[in-house]
Amino acid sequence: MHVERSFTLSLEVDPIADGVSWAQWEALGAALARDLPGRTLEAVAEEYQERLLERVCGARWQPQRRLPAPFACPGCGAEGDFARKGRRSRARRLDTSVGTLRLRLGNVVCRGCERVFAPLLVLLGLEGVRRTDRLGLRLAELSTQMSFARSAKVADELAAMPATAGRAHTSLADVAGLLGDLPPADTRPEVVLLDGTGARAGTGKLGVGVNLAVGLVGRSGPLRRRRAATVWLGATVDQPWSAMARQLESVAAPTLVVVDGEEAITDLAARLWPDTPVQRCWWHLPHGLRKALYRDRAHPTWARTMCTRLHELLHDAFAHDWDQTDALAAWDDLARPMATMRHDAAAGYLTAARPHAFTFLDERLQRALAPLGGVELGTGVIERVMRELNARTDIGGSRWSTPGLRDLVTVKTAQMLHHPVYEHLRKEILQPNTIGFALRRKVNA
Ligand SMILES: [Zn+2]
Repeated sequence: MHVERSFTLSLEVDPIADGVSWAQWEALGAALARDLPGRTLEAVAEEYQERLLERVCGARWQPQRRLPAPFACPGCGAEGDFARKGRRSRARRLDTSVGTLRLRLGNVVCRGCERVFAPLLVLLGLEGVRRTDRLGLRLAELSTQMSFARSAKVADELAAMPATAGRAHTSLADVAGLLGDLPPADTRPEVVLLDGTGARAGTGKLGVGVNLAVGLVGRSGPLRRRRAATVWLGATVDQPWSAMARQLESVAAPTLVVVDGEEAITDLAARLWPDTPVQRCWWHLPHGLRKALYRDRAHPTWARTMCTRLHELLHDAFAHDWDQTDALAAWDDLARPMATMRHDAAAGYLTAARPHAFTFLDERLQRALAPLGGVELGTGVIERVMRELNARTDIGGSRWSTPGLRDLVTVKTAQMLHHPVYEHLRKEILQPNTIGFALRRKVNA
């Protein structure tokens, strides 16, 4: 598809006074950068339409019959024999990622069925389209980073994209809708990480729960220094962990599951993959103990000492690659005073966590996961994603609705973890330009 001959676009600039500063010159450049792409594309499309009509209907004053066309009549499917049928009186507005286009459309009539239509729209698949996918995706992607109002402003400032906060909001929902129910991006991950957090959304004071499942697969980097790549496995918003089970059904038992310590998550892992070893997230363990001791009303200084000791124990065991038996003995030494002092929450917490605290010391597991850079100790990957989600939900004055948050979680996690469905959509919509062009300057005499 190309414009068969060049045409002239002229640019007239008002006389510029001698005293005009460079800052103003540069502002002129910025204004041109906003206006030119849309106006140019409009002109190119209309030129193209001119050539198309000539090819399909003959020259304006010499209509020809039975010429073939590169499009089909939307009425009867005929692929030729069209006659010009004048121009539409009103320009067709099309909102795009390079600005609002106003296209003056030429019509044809199908000699077979009398149907009148604009071949340019039919050929470009723009019938009924008021906003392009590229505009929608651009707005949605901005909206995962900043407030809807700001997204609209940035879109307008950068590329004259027609946008409002409401439009940005709709775009995010549209892209989430296009992604649909995402399947796990890999059904045989080596390691599965499961973690949950709260996000500021919904009507409840505590917000809404967001749960994520991320897989580690050893496929990136050179053979000798392979690094774990992360893949999207599942995400739920305001749903119990059992809902995640449905998303993870197709995932084969991994070598290891890393959980943040919530009982429901450990239960889910045990139910999905009963034979897979579980590691409690390293970073969560001392935090969990601190919370339990707080509930027990333990003396704060003592509680802090205990948490530090737990932290050091985990570190030492890792750094010196302890024997699992020794590590568990040290764990029991640490847990004993909790029981004797009747700190039931803390004692219960440590008992529940015990079987999953030192999984990383298992030699077989260490060998199996060596290609990924060792046994994963924490859910840090997920927490990075969660932090970004929270950063987005915490900005802007208005509170997110639960469906709105679900859209954000879908798009943002698919984007951050490069879900193949998302990458495919992006590739389809944000295609690189393949149409050659040259800008030439002709000085008017
Ligand atoms: Zn027809």
